Amino acid sequence: MKHSRKIGDGDDDDFPVRIDGKRLDRQKRKLIKQSRGISFRCVHCSVEISTNATATAHRNHCPMCLWSRHVDNSVGDRRSTCLSAMKPLGLSIKEPGEELMIVHQCVACDKIIRNRIAGDDNSFVIMDLLESSLLLPEEKECEIAKAGIQLCVDRELVSQCLWGKATI
Ligand SMILES: [Zn+2]
Ligand SMILES: [Zn+2]
Repeated sequence: MKHSRKIGDGDDDDFPVRIDGKRLDRQKRKLIKQSRGISFRCVHCSVEISTNATATAHRNHCPMCLWSRHVDNSVGDRRSTCLSAMKPLGLSIKEPGEELMIVHQCVACDKIIRNRIAGDDNSFVIMDLLESSLLLPEEKECEIAKAGIQLCVDRELVSQCLWGKATI
């Protein structure tokens, strides 16, 4: 027989069968394995992405379209069992250091979290995201505020974060 059904044995050793007591099905284990591997496929635009990103230890979003996958309960913990697609909603600035973050919301469970941008995220797509965040409905803004996140809609501040201070 090709596939052994023994739990917690064999080729499943390097990724969890359960997270916080919840048993993961085969598809979810595969997704977790991919998210911890050297590359994964974007949930949204299907580009193959290396997890080895500049300026972040926890690459979980696509540098082209900024979509992510719900793998964390809190930043970098990789303890979510949801694993659905997370849509970029807007930007946020993390104090101190004025670090630019992307605000993501899970399309399945509605969880909202912030993620650090990576050095090779597409700056123009980030600026587009800023523009589209200006058009978010009020309920969505309230939802984001309830998650304890303040959206940044300051174009100048965002472009400074991306390209440094203008020297004129
Ligand atoms: Zn993508
Ligand atoms: Zn989720």
